[in-house]
Amino acid sequence: MDTAPGAGCPVCGDTGPRPSLFRIPSIPAHSCLLMDSREEALAVHAGSMDLVRCPTCGYLANRAFDEGLTGYSTRYEDSQAFSRTFVEYATQLARRWVEGWHLEGATVAEVGAGRGDFSRMLVAAGAGRVLAVDPTIDPERLGPAEGVEAVVRRVERAEDLPACDAVVMRHVLEHVDAPRVVLGALREALSDRPDAPVLVEVPDARRILAEGAFWDVYHEHCAYPTAETVRELFESCGFEVRAVSTVFHDQYLLVEATPTGTPRAASLDPGTLERLASESDGFATRVADEVERWRATVAAAAADGSQVVVWGAGSKGTAFLAALGELRSAVRNVIDVNPHVQGRFIAGTGHEIRGPEDLREHPADLVVVMNPVYLDEISADVARLSPGARVLALGR
Ligand SMILES: [Zn+2]
Repeated sequence: MDTAPGAGCPVCGDTGPRPSLFRIPSIPAHSCLLMDSREEALAVHAGSMDLVRCPTCGYLANRAFDEGLTGYSTRYEDSQAFSRTFVEYATQLARRWVEGWHLEGATVAEVGAGRGDFSRMLVAAGAGRVLAVDPTIDPERLGPAEGVEAVVRRVERAEDLPACDAVVMRHVLEHVDAPRVVLGALREALSDRPDAPVLVEVPDARRILAEGAFWDVYHEHCAYPTAETVRELFESCGFEVRAVSTVFHDQYLLVEATPTGTPRAASLDPGTLERLASESDGFATRVADEVERWRATVAAAAADGSQVVVWGAGSKGTAFLAALGELRSAVRNVIDVNPHVQGRFIAGTGHEIRGPEDLREHPADLVVVMNPVYLDEISADVARLSPGARVLALGR
Protein backbone atom coordinates (compact mmCIF):
# COMPACT_ATOMS: atom_id res chain seq x y z
CA MET A 1 0.00 0.00 0.00
CA ASP A 2 2.82 2.37 0.84
CA THR A 3 4.80 1.78 -2.31
CA ALA A 4 3.47 2.27 -5.80
CA PRO A 5 5.15 -0.10 -8.26
CA GLY A 6 8.41 1.31 -9.57
CA ALA A 7 8.00 4.57 -7.65
CA GLY A 8 11.07 5.39 -5.63
CA CYS A 9 12.12 8.62 -3.94
CA PRO A 10 12.85 11.20 -6.69
CA VAL A 11 15.92 12.46 -4.79
CA CYS A 12 17.72 9.48 -3.23
CA GLY A 13 16.08 6.65 -5.19
CA ASP A 14 15.05 4.75 -2.04
CA THR A 15 12.41 2.25 -3.15
CA GLY A 16 11.36 1.22 0.37
CA PRO A 17 8.01 2.18 1.91
CA ARG A 18 7.38 5.90 2.26
CA PRO A 19 4.80 6.80 4.92
CA SER A 20 1.77 8.65 3.61
CA LEU A 21 1.12 11.92 5.46
CA PHE A 22 -1.93 13.24 3.68
CA ARG A 23 -4.27 12.06 0.94
CA ILE A 24 -6.89 13.78 -1.23
CA PRO A 25 -8.40 11.40 -3.80
CA SER A 26 -9.60 14.15 -6.15
CA ILE A 27 -8.26 17.69 -6.59
CA PRO A 28 -8.10 19.87 -9.71
CA ALA A 29 -5.10 18.78 -11.77
CA HIS A 30 -4.42 22.43 -12.60
CA SER A 31 -4.89 25.26 -10.18
CA CYS A 32 -3.57 28.16 -12.27
CA LEU A 33 -4.89 27.28 -15.69
CA LEU A 34 -7.21 29.88 -17.19
CA MET A 35 -10.68 28.66 -18.07
CA ASP A 36 -12.78 30.61 -20.58
CA SER A 37 -16.16 29.25 -19.47
CA ARG A 38 -17.73 27.80 -16.36
CA GLU A 39 -18.40 24.53 -18.22
CA GLU A 40 -14.75 24.22 -19.18
CA ALA A 41 -13.67 25.02 -15.60
CA LEU A 42 -15.96 22.36 -14.15
CA ALA A 43 -14.70 19.77 -16.65
CA VAL A 44 -11.02 20.17 -15.69
CA HIS A 45 -9.24 16.89 -15.05
CA ALA A 46 -8.94 15.68 -11.49
CA GLY A 47 -5.61 14.65 -10.04
CA SER A 48 -4.84 13.24 -6.63
CA MET A 49 -2.55 13.96 -3.74
CA ASP A 50 -0.67 11.44 -1.66
CA LEU A 51 2.01 13.32 0.24
CA VAL A 52 4.80 10.99 1.34
CA ARG A 53 8.06 11.44 3.25
CA CYS A 54 11.23 9.60 2.27
CA PRO A 55 12.75 7.76 5.27
CA THR A 56 16.28 8.21 3.85
CA CYS A 57 16.52 11.81 2.58
CA GLY A 58 13.32 13.26 4.06
CA TYR A 59 12.06 14.60 0.72
CA LEU A 60 8.33 15.28 0.73
CA ALA A 61 6.62 14.51 -2.56
CA ASN A 62 3.19 13.86 -4.04
CA ARG A 63 3.42 10.19 -4.95
CA ALA A 64 0.15 10.48 -6.92
CA PHE A 65 1.50 13.27 -9.15
CA ASP A 66 0.63 12.61 -12.79
CA GLU A 67 2.68 14.74 -15.14
CA GLY A 68 0.41 13.81 -18.03
CA LEU A 69 -2.34 15.86 -16.38
CA THR A 70 -0.38 19.10 -16.05
CA GLY A 71 0.46 20.39 -19.55
CA TYR A 72 1.71 23.90 -18.86
CA SER A 73 0.90 26.34 -21.62
CA THR A 74 0.47 30.05 -22.24
CA ARG A 75 -2.91 29.63 -20.54
CA TYR A 76 -1.08 28.93 -17.29
CA GLU A 77 -1.45 32.16 -15.38
CA ASP A 78 0.67 32.64 -12.31
CA SER A 79 1.69 36.27 -12.53
CA GLN A 80 1.64 38.07 -9.20
CA ALA A 81 3.05 41.23 -10.72
CA PHE A 82 -0.22 43.11 -10.23
CA SER A 83 0.05 43.19 -6.45
CA ARG A 84 1.93 46.13 -4.92
CA THR A 85 3.12 44.01 -1.98
CA PHE A 86 4.47 41.33 -4.26
CA VAL A 87 6.20 43.75 -6.62
CA GLU A 88 7.92 45.38 -3.66
CA TYR A 89 9.11 42.00 -2.37
CA ALA A 90 10.34 40.77 -5.76
CA THR A 91 12.08 44.07 -6.54
CA GLN A 92 14.04 43.76 -3.30
CA LEU A 93 14.89 40.13 -4.02
CA ALA A 94 16.24 41.07 -7.47
CA ARG A 95 18.42 43.74 -5.83
CA ARG A 96 19.58 41.36 -3.12
CA TRP A 97 20.72 38.79 -5.66
CA VAL A 98 22.27 41.24 -8.15
CA GLU A 99 24.17 43.13 -5.45
CA GLY A 100 25.02 40.13 -3.28
CA TRP A 101 26.40 38.12 -6.20
CA HIS A 102 27.88 41.05 -8.16
CA LEU A 103 25.68 40.47 -11.19
CA GLU A 104 25.87 44.10 -12.39
CA GLY A 105 26.26 43.89 -16.18
CA ALA A 106 26.20 40.06 -16.10
CA THR A 107 24.14 37.69 -18.25
CA VAL A 108 21.58 35.88 -16.09
CA ALA A 109 19.46 32.93 -17.24
CA GLU A 110 16.10 32.86 -15.48
CA VAL A 111 14.93 29.27 -15.81
CA GLY A 112 11.13 28.98 -15.56
CA ALA A 113 10.70 32.72 -16.11
CA GLY A 114 6.90 32.49 -16.47
CA ARG A 115 5.77 35.86 -17.82
CA GLY A 116 9.23 37.41 -17.50
CA ASP A 117 8.20 39.76 -14.68
CA PHE A 118 11.19 38.91 -12.48
CA SER A 119 13.56 38.98 -15.47
CA ARG A 120 12.64 42.66 -15.95
CA MET A 121 13.28 43.29 -12.27
CA LEU A 122 16.75 41.72 -12.54
CA VAL A 123 17.57 44.09 -15.39
CA ALA A 124 16.21 47.02 -13.38
CA ALA A 125 18.42 45.90 -10.50
CA GLY A 126 21.51 46.07 -12.70
CA ALA A 127 21.86 42.73 -14.54
CA GLY A 128 23.22 43.37 -18.04
CA ARG A 129 21.03 40.89 -19.89
CA VAL A 130 18.47 38.32 -18.77
CA LEU A 131 17.56 35.26 -20.80
CA ALA A 132 13.98 34.44 -19.80
CA VAL A 133 13.88 30.68 -20.36
CA ASP A 134 10.43 29.07 -20.20
CA PRO A 135 8.50 26.67 -22.44
CA THR A 136 5.37 28.80 -21.97
CA ILE A 137 6.84 32.29 -22.28
CA ASP A 138 4.91 34.44 -24.73
CA PRO A 139 7.35 36.81 -26.48
CA GLU A 140 4.39 38.98 -27.51
CA ARG A 141 3.16 39.54 -23.95
CA LEU A 142 6.76 40.04 -22.80
CA GLY A 143 6.77 42.91 -25.30
CA PRO A 144 9.71 45.23 -25.74
CA ALA A 145 11.67 44.70 -22.53
CA GLU A 146 15.14 46.15 -22.72
CA GLY A 147 17.75 43.62 -21.69
CA VAL A 148 15.31 40.68 -21.54
CA GLU A 149 15.24 37.99 -24.24
CA ALA A 150 12.62 35.26 -24.35
CA VAL A 151 14.01 31.73 -24.82
CA VAL A 152 11.11 29.32 -25.41
CA ARG A 153 12.58 26.15 -23.96
CA ARG A 154 12.45 23.60 -21.14
CA VAL A 155 15.74 22.85 -19.33
CA GLU A 156 16.31 19.11 -19.01
CA ARG A 157 19.83 18.64 -20.39
CA ALA A 158 23.04 20.64 -19.97
CA GLU A 159 22.82 21.94 -23.54
CA ASP A 160 19.40 23.45 -22.84
CA LEU A 161 20.94 26.12 -20.61
CA PRO A 162 22.07 29.17 -22.62
CA ALA A 163 25.56 30.54 -21.83
CA CYS A 164 25.28 32.73 -18.73
CA ASP A 165 27.04 34.03 -15.62
CA ALA A 166 24.30 33.04 -13.16
CA VAL A 167 21.09 31.04 -13.02
CA VAL A 168 17.93 32.21 -11.28
CA MET A 169 15.06 29.78 -10.77
CA ARG A 170 11.96 30.85 -8.86
CA HIS A 171 9.07 28.51 -8.07
CA VAL A 172 10.14 25.80 -10.46
CA LEU A 173 11.47 22.91 -8.37
CA GLU A 174 8.15 22.31 -6.62
CA HIS A 175 6.66 21.53 -10.06
CA VAL A 176 9.39 19.08 -11.03
CA ASP A 177 8.99 15.39 -10.25
CA ALA A 178 12.58 14.61 -11.22
CA PRO A 179 14.52 17.46 -9.54
CA ARG A 180 17.87 15.65 -9.96
CA VAL A 181 17.45 15.81 -13.74
CA VAL A 182 17.07 19.60 -13.73
CA LEU A 183 19.77 20.27 -11.11
CA GLY A 184 22.07 17.70 -12.75
CA ALA A 185 21.65 19.52 -16.08
CA LEU A 186 22.49 22.87 -14.47
CA ARG A 187 25.47 21.39 -12.61
CA GLU A 188 26.87 19.90 -15.84
CA ALA A 189 26.22 23.06 -17.86
CA LEU A 190 28.08 25.14 -15.25
CA SER A 191 30.93 22.69 -14.69
CA ASP A 192 33.48 25.16 -16.08
CA ARG A 193 31.86 28.13 -14.30
CA PRO A 194 32.59 27.63 -10.58
CA ASP A 195 31.85 31.33 -10.04
CA ALA A 196 28.31 31.12 -11.50
CA PRO A 197 25.72 31.05 -8.71
CA VAL A 198 22.42 29.21 -8.90
CA LEU A 199 19.81 31.25 -7.01
CA VAL A 200 16.55 29.53 -6.26
CA GLU A 201 13.23 30.27 -4.55
CA VAL A 202 10.74 27.58 -3.52
CA PRO A 203 7.79 27.47 -1.10
CA ASP A 204 8.82 26.41 2.42
CA ALA A 205 6.94 23.26 3.42
CA ARG A 206 7.74 23.80 7.10
CA ARG A 207 5.08 26.52 7.42
CA ILE A 208 2.57 24.49 5.36
CA LEU A 209 3.05 21.52 7.69
CA ALA A 210 2.80 23.63 10.86
CA GLU A 211 -0.31 25.57 9.78
CA GLY A 212 -2.16 22.68 8.15
CA ALA A 213 -2.17 24.99 5.11
CA PHE A 214 -4.37 22.91 2.79
CA TRP A 215 -4.58 25.90 0.41
CA ASP A 216 -0.87 25.44 -0.32
CA VAL A 217 -1.13 21.79 -1.38
CA TYR A 218 -1.74 21.35 -5.12
CA HIS A 219 -1.56 18.52 -7.57
CA GLU A 220 0.96 20.38 -9.73
CA HIS A 221 3.20 20.91 -6.73
CA CYS A 222 4.76 17.49 -6.69
CA ALA A 223 7.51 18.48 -4.23
CA TYR A 224 7.39 20.15 -0.81
CA PRO A 225 10.95 21.13 0.16
CA THR A 226 12.07 22.19 3.63
CA ALA A 227 15.34 23.99 4.41
CA GLU A 228 17.03 20.66 5.22
CA THR A 229 15.72 18.60 2.30
CA VAL A 230 16.39 21.29 -0.31
CA ARG A 231 19.95 21.74 0.99
CA GLU A 232 20.50 17.98 0.76
CA LEU A 233 19.02 17.94 -2.76
CA PHE A 234 21.45 20.63 -3.95
CA GLU A 235 24.50 19.20 -2.19
CA SER A 236 23.85 15.70 -3.47
CA CYS A 237 23.55 17.12 -7.01
CA GLY A 238 27.06 18.59 -6.78
CA PHE A 239 26.42 22.10 -5.50
CA GLU A 240 27.91 23.86 -2.50
CA VAL A 241 25.08 25.57 -0.68
CA ARG A 242 26.17 29.05 0.45
CA ALA A 243 22.91 29.95 2.18
CA VAL A 244 19.37 28.77 2.75
CA SER A 245 17.11 31.50 4.11
CA THR A 246 13.43 31.91 4.90
CA VAL A 247 11.72 34.97 3.40
CA PHE A 248 8.27 36.45 2.55
CA HIS A 249 6.73 35.84 5.99
CA ASP A 250 8.16 32.29 6.20
CA GLN A 251 6.41 31.32 2.96
CA TYR A 252 9.48 30.91 0.75
CA LEU A 253 12.99 29.50 0.95
CA LEU A 254 15.93 31.03 -0.88
CA VAL A 255 18.79 28.71 -1.84
CA GLU A 256 22.08 30.24 -2.97
CA ALA A 257 24.52 27.67 -4.34
CA THR A 258 27.62 27.36 -6.51
CA PRO A 259 28.46 24.45 -8.85
CA THR A 260 31.56 23.54 -6.87
CA GLY A 261 30.58 20.35 -5.03
CA THR A 262 30.70 16.70 -6.00
CA PRO A 263 27.52 14.74 -6.81
CA ARG A 264 26.77 11.97 -4.29
CA ALA A 265 23.90 9.94 -2.90
CA ALA A 266 21.35 11.86 -0.83
CA SER A 267 20.56 11.08 2.81
CA LEU A 268 19.83 13.02 6.01
CA ASP A 269 21.17 12.28 9.49
CA PRO A 270 18.82 10.46 11.91
CA GLY A 271 18.28 13.52 14.14
CA THR A 272 17.12 15.70 11.22
CA LEU A 273 14.90 12.91 9.89
CA GLU A 274 13.31 12.52 13.32
CA ARG A 275 12.57 16.24 13.56
CA LEU A 276 11.07 16.22 10.07
CA ALA A 277 8.88 13.27 11.07
CA SER A 278 7.61 15.05 14.18
CA GLU A 279 6.82 18.17 12.12
CA SER A 280 4.97 16.33 9.37
CA ASP A 281 3.21 13.40 11.04
CA GLY A 282 0.18 15.33 12.29
CA PHE A 283 -0.34 17.21 9.02
CA ALA A 284 -3.55 15.40 7.98
CA THR A 285 -5.15 16.20 11.36
CA ARG A 286 -4.12 19.86 11.17
CA VAL A 287 -5.56 20.08 7.64
CA ALA A 288 -8.85 18.51 8.77
CA ASP A 289 -9.10 21.06 11.59
CA GLU A 290 -8.42 23.99 9.27
CA VAL A 291 -10.89 22.78 6.64
CA GLU A 292 -13.54 22.37 9.35
CA ARG A 293 -12.86 25.86 10.72
CA TRP A 294 -13.26 27.50 7.30
CA ARG A 295 -16.33 25.47 6.37
CA ALA A 296 -17.93 26.64 9.63
CA THR A 297 -17.05 30.29 8.89
CA VAL A 298 -18.47 30.13 5.36
CA ALA A 299 -21.55 28.17 6.51
CA ALA A 300 -22.31 30.78 9.19
CA ALA A 301 -21.99 33.59 6.65
CA ALA A 302 -24.19 31.74 4.16
CA ALA A 303 -26.83 31.09 6.83
CA ASP A 304 -27.44 34.80 7.41
CA GLY A 305 -27.47 35.60 3.69
CA SER A 306 -24.05 37.26 3.58
CA GLN A 307 -22.34 37.87 0.26
CA VAL A 308 -19.06 35.96 0.42
CA VAL A 309 -16.15 36.43 -1.98
CA VAL A 310 -12.67 34.96 -2.15
CA TRP A 311 -9.79 37.36 -2.92
CA GLY A 312 -7.02 35.64 -4.90
CA ALA A 313 -7.54 33.51 -8.01
CA GLY A 314 -4.22 31.68 -7.90
CA SER A 315 -3.53 28.16 -6.72
CA LYS A 316 -4.53 29.00 -3.15
CA GLY A 317 -8.00 30.15 -4.25
CA THR A 318 -8.50 27.02 -6.32
CA ALA A 319 -7.42 24.74 -3.47
CA PHE A 320 -9.50 26.63 -0.90
CA LEU A 321 -12.70 26.50 -2.96
CA ALA A 322 -12.19 22.80 -3.78
CA ALA A 323 -11.82 22.03 -0.06
CA LEU A 324 -15.09 23.76 0.83
CA GLY A 325 -17.03 20.88 -0.73
CA GLU A 326 -20.76 21.66 -1.02
CA LEU A 327 -20.22 25.00 0.69
CA ARG A 328 -18.38 26.29 -2.37
CA SER A 329 -21.74 27.45 -3.69
CA ALA A 330 -21.92 29.90 -0.77
CA VAL A 331 -19.00 31.83 -2.33
CA ARG A 332 -20.36 34.26 -4.92
CA ASN A 333 -17.20 34.85 -6.95
CA VAL A 334 -13.46 35.41 -6.81
CA ILE A 335 -11.70 38.79 -6.91
CA ASP A 336 -8.24 39.23 -8.41
CA VAL A 337 -6.12 42.24 -9.33
CA ASN A 338 -4.55 40.51 -12.35
CA PRO A 339 -6.48 41.74 -15.44
CA HIS A 340 -5.44 38.61 -17.35
CA VAL A 341 -7.58 36.38 -15.11
CA GLN A 342 -10.63 38.63 -14.84
CA GLY A 343 -13.67 37.26 -16.70
CA ARG A 344 -12.29 33.74 -16.52
CA PHE A 345 -13.20 30.84 -14.24
CA ILE A 346 -11.59 28.84 -11.42
CA ALA A 347 -10.61 25.30 -12.41
CA GLY A 348 -12.65 22.63 -10.68
CA THR A 349 -15.32 24.83 -9.04
CA GLY A 350 -16.22 27.22 -11.89
CA HIS A 351 -16.27 30.45 -9.83
CA GLU A 352 -16.06 33.57 -11.96
CA ILE A 353 -13.06 35.88 -11.44
CA ARG A 354 -13.76 39.60 -11.36
CA GLY A 355 -11.64 42.68 -10.79
CA PRO A 356 -11.72 44.56 -7.46
CA GLU A 357 -13.86 47.34 -8.99
CA ASP A 358 -16.71 44.83 -9.28
CA LEU A 359 -17.15 45.19 -5.49
CA ARG A 360 -18.37 48.76 -5.96
CA GLU A 361 -21.43 47.53 -7.83
CA HIS A 362 -21.75 44.24 -5.96
CA PRO A 363 -20.62 44.79 -2.37
CA ALA A 364 -19.55 41.85 -0.24
CA ASP A 365 -20.12 41.14 3.45
CA LEU A 366 -17.21 38.74 3.89
CA VAL A 367 -13.93 38.76 1.94
CA VAL A 368 -11.67 35.75 2.46
CA VAL A 369 -8.08 36.64 1.55
CA MET A 370 -6.02 33.73 0.21
CA ASN A 371 -2.65 35.04 1.40
CA PRO A 372 -2.18 36.90 4.70
CA VAL A 373 0.84 38.66 3.19
CA TYR A 374 -1.56 40.78 1.13
CA LEU A 375 -3.99 41.49 3.97
CA ASP A 376 -3.08 45.17 4.47
CA GLU A 377 -3.13 45.89 0.75
CA ILE A 378 -6.45 44.11 0.24
CA SER A 379 -8.08 45.53 3.40
CA ALA A 380 -7.35 49.03 2.09
CA ASP A 381 -8.96 48.16 -1.27
CA VAL A 382 -12.00 46.58 0.43
CA ALA A 383 -12.50 49.61 2.71
CA ARG A 384 -12.58 51.78 -0.41
CA LEU A 385 -14.73 49.53 -2.62
CA SER A 386 -17.05 47.69 -0.23
CA PRO A 387 -17.02 49.61 3.06
CA GLY A 388 -18.01 47.60 6.10
CA ALA A 389 -17.16 44.20 4.64
CA ARG A 390 -15.43 41.81 7.05
CA VAL A 391 -11.96 40.72 5.82
CA LEU A 392 -10.43 37.43 6.96
CA ALA A 393 -7.21 35.80 5.77
CA LEU A 394 -6.11 32.18 5.56
CA GLY A 395 -3.26 31.20 7.84
CA ARG A 396 -4.17 33.52 10.70
ZN1 LIG B 1 14.77 10.04 -0.59
